[in-house]
Amino acid sequence: MTANPAAAPAKRPAGRGRNVELSEELKAYKGIWVFIEHERGHVHSVSWELVGEARKLADKLGCAVAAVLLGGPDEALEKFAAEAFTYGADKAYIVHDPVLLGYRNEPFTKGLTDLVNKYQPEILLLGATSMGRDLAGSVATTLLTGLTADCTELAIDPATRALAATRPTFGGSLYCTIMTLAYRPQMATVRPRVMLMPTPDASRTGEIVQDTLGMVETQIVTKLLDFIADAHSNKINLPYADVIVCGGKGLKTPENFKLVFELARVLGGEVGATRPCVQAGWVEADRQVGQTGKTVRPRLYIAAGVSGAVQHRVGMEASDVIVAINTDANAPIFDVAHYGIVGNAMQVLPALTQAFAAHFAQHRRQVA
Ligand SMILES: Cc1cc2nc3c(=O)[nH]c(=O)nc-3n(C[C@H](O)[C@H](O)[C@H](O)COP(=O)(O)OP(=O)(O)OC[C@H]3O[C@@H](n4cnc5c(N)ncnc54)[C@H](O)[C@@H]3O)c2cc1C
Repeated sequence: MTANPAAAPAKRPAGRGRNVELSEELKAYKGIWVFIEHERGHVHSVSWELVGEARKLADKLGCAVAAVLLGGPDEALEKFAAEAFTYGADKAYIVHDPVLLGYRNEPFTKGLTDLVNKYQPEILLLGATSMGRDLAGSVATTLLTGLTADCTELAIDPATRALAATRPTFGGSLYCTIMTLAYRPQMATVRPRVMLMPTPDASRTGEIVQDTLGMVETQIVTKLLDFIADAHSNKINLPYADVIVCGGKGLKTPENFKLVFELARVLGGEVGATRPCVQAGWVEADRQVGQTGKTVRPRLYIAAGVSGAVQHRVGMEASDVIVAINTDANAPIFDVAHYGIVGNAMQVLPALTQAFAAHFAQHRRQVA
């Protein structure tokens, strides 16, 4: 927990420990909020995943879910709010302001902290994206509350009704569950694809609360001069790929890694890699799956020459179907695999590529 030791006395309860009694002031905090991340007219899917998760937690606590939307005067925040309702939100807090057009830390921190101080949610969730990580840290330190980053599981502790936020620790060898018992709101960030995408319910609606920011451009140090899209960003979209073929150090050389690319191409999937392959410069860092890489949830995950270390598994074990190819029948990857092939990846990968290519070619002939 990253609670600031210099927290304001008014936010401290009388006691410490799990049976801590919240002050009347902190007991007033109610409801679960999700910061809805949007950029250039698109909402990041992690926001909907978090609204779905917030709904489940709120049903346990018996409280409401609210979406928080900050943006420029003409941005479609009301439309995004309507979408948030379909995913499970009951309410949306919206702030339109010229200084909120395009993400900058200062106005977004002020916007979010002001809303929290005014409406007092007990839990605040953000995506563990570049924006979410930047914003969550500054909001938590401004509010003097606890933030658990990169959570893999969220639950409600029945004893305290506190948020139990689980995340890997000690280099991924242990999971720890962290509770912010003494401060409000309880904050957590969650990576894209860790939580399931909820099914939208078009009949759901909710209440919209409009608020104001009270900040002017001259108060902001950073200036947004232009937006230049990174030509390489989103080229590799591992978290949302349906099929991933992942290569590990068992492939031995970067030349052999091409076998992974060939199978992924035939299957119309993406290429993933373990950390040592990235560190060796065989593939781009954006392809790394695992604790310090991406979390993925594809329909099919093929792991070739991957040992299955816990730091890798934490990023891929939620895949629907896992196929592992490894020469060592005792490799840990087989503990999470639905199908295991004990064999040499340099032989198995080309055989699979050939078999799938022949299968799809035949399918295309039948359809034509
Ligand atoms: C703090 C921390 C964070 C980390 N984060 C990540 C992370 O995000 N992602 C990640 O992947 N790792 C991460 N790691 C590293 C992790 O602990 C492992 O070292 C790594 O996942 C192992 O990669 P690997 O399976 O490619 O290699 P190895 O462990 O070397 O395994 C190679 C496997 O290939 C098999 N093999 C050998 N030859 C063949 C062959 N011809 N055909 C088929 N199989 C063969 C071997 O039996 C073996 O099981 C992290 C480690 C730390 C300490």
